[in-house]
Amino acid sequence: MAFRSLPPSLHPETLLVHGGSLRSEFGETSEAIFLTQGHVYGSAEESERRFSGDEPGFIYARFSNPTVAMFEARMAALEGAEAARATATGMAAVTAALVGQLKAGDHVLAARALFGSCRYVIEEFLPRFGVESTLVDGRDLDAWKRGIRPNTKTLFLESPANPTLDLVDIAAVARIAKAAGATLVVDNVFATPLFQKPLELGADCVVYSATKHIDGQGRCLGGVILASAAFIDAHIQTYLRQTGPAMSPFNAWVLLKALETLPLRIRQQAASAAHIADGLAGSAGIARLVYPGRPDHPQADLVARQMTGGSTLIALEIDGGKAAAFRFLNALRLVLISNNLGDAKSLITHPATTTHQRFTPQARAEMGVGEGLVRLSVGLEHADDILTDLKQALAASRA
Ligand SMILES: *Cc1c(COP(=O)(O)O)cnc(C)c1O
Repeated sequence: MAFRSLPPSLHPETLLVHGGSLRSEFGETSEAIFLTQGHVYGSAEESERRFSGDEPGFIYARFSNPTVAMFEARMAALEGAEAARATATGMAAVTAALVGQLKAGDHVLAARALFGSCRYVIEEFLPRFGVESTLVDGRDLDAWKRGIRPNTKTLFLESPANPTLDLVDIAAVARIAKAAGATLVVDNVFATPLFQKPLELGADCVVYSATKHIDGQGRCLGGVILASAAFIDAHIQTYLRQTGPAMSPFNAWVLLKALETLPLRIRQQAASAAHIADGLAGSAGIARLVYPGRPDHPQADLVARQMTGGSTLIALEIDGGKAAAFRFLNALRLVLISNNLGDAKSLITHPATTTHQRFTPQARAEMGVGEGLVRLSVGLEHADDILTDLKQALAASRA
């Protein structure tokens, strides 16, 4: 059995259908689920060679499984990365990408506007083990430069950020990291692997929650870490093998098959989001609308430079704070109230009372998470049906 090898010059659509396929002797068309914990060996000598690494092959699903390997190879082909490692969740990927590189006495510098659990890992978890951390306004390049210390080992950012959809200049932050002898890890969930290529922009490592757009239908948790083979060998491989945040082969199969339709889904969802953003902009009841891809995005130049598509998400500041935002959410008939994103179903969340509830009002204000802010994840319904629903709910929120 060998991975199907394809010229990397092929388009993403093609790589996502064929990349990483590992066909068994049965010649199956669709990739198989190898739901097995382990593997058997023809002889004691073979098992010895497998464990010594002299013979390639699978050993135990905590660190290698054929279906998980197919998902990893397909993700690596899409990202243009030398190596990929799958994890049980997006947070397992983020944690591994950081913990795998760090030891007591090191310093992490990160953008303040982060997915809540990423902030927990950086602000609260790592310091328990003697790793210092500082948070800066990711949009402010001078703040990144000022934040560097002699012991800074890695920089971490998310762009566009959750839930404000602010961008960080990845190429500029990568240069700051390199100059300091530090690495840069980018959480690329909001941009998706289709619309932003952090490795090409100079990042050392990219992480995804595959739970979001990669699954795209709200079924499985998953995560993936992509980097050079040297980075994976030095920081990730042993950590994952010995600590065990492994992806289930079943989830890997669902996510692998979901990758085949990723471009179709993302392009449609982003086109619908652009249509909805244009349809809502300037409406009574909306204090502010942020959509990467509209010319009024505060960093429109950077969007054009750094991303090849907009986003499937829209941030809306509803006039009238929490009460109006709640009236708006409760009046929706089609769009569902949920904290998830990247789903085929349009989902909306009020970050201040859900994903960002545990922060103080001041910390939320620093992250741009106001009481009236809602985050809309646009799904695969017809864009006009979603827009009609949002407009009637907006009218109701003002009643
Ligand atoms: C969801 C998410 C995560 C965490 O992913 P899980 O799969 O839920 O663990 C990390 N970063 C961002 C930006 C996310 O949206």
